[in-house]
Amino acid sequence: MLADKDRIFTNIYGRFDKSLKGAQARGHWDGTAGIIEKGRDWIINEMKASGLRGRGGAGFPTGLKWSFMPKQSDGRPSYLVVNADESEPGTCKDREILRHDPHTLVEGCLIAGFAMGAIAAYIYVRGEFIREREALQRAIDEAYEAGLIGKGNKNGYDFDIYVHHGAGAYICGEETALLESLEGKKGQPRLKPPFPANVGLYGCPTTVNNVESIAVAPTILRRGASWFSSIGRPNNVGTKLFMLVGHVNTPCTVEEAMGITFRELVEKHGGGIRGGWDNLLAVIPGGASCPVVKAEDIIDCPMDFDGLREKKSSFGTAAVIVMDKSTDIVKAIARLSYFFKHESCGQCTPCREGTGWMWRVMERLVRGEAHKREIDMLLDVTKQVEGHTICALGDAAAWPIQGLIRNFRPEIERRIDEFSRNAHRHEPVLAAAE
Ligand code: SF4
Repeated sequence: MLADKDRIFTNIYGRFDKSLKGAQARGHWDGTAGIIEKGRDWIINEMKASGLRGRGGAGFPTGLKWSFMPKQSDGRPSYLVVNADESEPGTCKDREILRHDPHTLVEGCLIAGFAMGAIAAYIYVRGEFIREREALQRAIDEAYEAGLIGKGNKNGYDFDIYVHHGAGAYICGEETALLESLEGKKGQPRLKPPFPANVGLYGCPTTVNNVESIAVAPTILRRGASWFSSIGRPNNVGTKLFMLVGHVNTPCTVEEAMGITFRELVEKHGGGIRGGWDNLLAVIPGGASCPVVKAEDIIDCPMDFDGLREKKSSFGTAAVIVMDKSTDIVKAIARLSYFFKHESCGQCTPCREGTGWMWRVMERLVRGEAHKREIDMLLDVTKQVEGHTICALGDAAAWPIQGLIRNFRPEIERRIDEFSRNAHRHEPVLAAAE
């Protein structure tokens, strides 16, 4: 289990003072000017050496991403954009940072912004996060008042931070849709290339990072890359905010070492599975878009990027959705299909039409009102949607269904058999009635 001294987020449950004074007492904003003095290259190299991979789901190396920003300006300013649009069902970690430990993010914005030569950070906050936005804004105001950010600040790098409040669309969590929305347009993903590092916000070089990725940076730089990379397994290092949701006895968000096994995570922090381990049915390990994994496959699985890839799923945001045997697994996945259909922005045909088509078939599969050959047809359609759309929402809609068919095909077939048995049983009655 991660030792308390290795925790980056020391106020994730809001038990202590979240103000600047409280944050400073817990070690934040300590030696920030010294870190900046060491220069851009040092920070980027240290971030690369730390092995930090983006905490928003894709797991792209953070230091490498920062290094894509232009070293010399061609006259255009550069921007850091922080994605605080946390909307993936099951995911609820960034909101804890925003509302209880916001100074980790504010300090992170300054340091990351400096490392990539940005003049300002825009933090795009999910529309539903009202209190979170207020807490974040308060922290930013405090930092301005204390001369930690802004013009001529004590840390030696002029930098502004703006908060932008979204209107509650899931697709605005996709980085280019987020940029469109920030610019005041409809939140629809852009075709890539050009990538945001070349043409991002207002046509300028931009890096979009997740809240957690930015908030952990100051502590990594203070304690050293080797400290961070010594936690976890190679290629999957550091600490991570895990979310345990669903059928555990004590759902929670907790900072743990990458690579902790599912069993340990649930035993130590989730109070065990509701009804005991024999009652575990399946787990969606990283938020709604990740394929579901069967109980026996996940129990001893290391919870990190490689561990879950081996189980044909993905680590995502580490939002671990636990389902016990009371769950109607087909209905649960059908509900997710509805979510993705609802959130599709409608730009590309495979996603716009495919998400609705897949959801309608899923609804029939819940009742068993289908032919068995439709299972393969559905699988085929998920493959036609996957990888054929502008953004990853198409994939996100396809993967849960693929995971369901891979792991629970007998259950789908059982429903179809049962439905047709019942239909036959009722046939003579219906015929007689006619
Ligand atoms: Fe919009 Fe879906 Fe295409 Fe993404 S994949 S751009 S959400 S239609």
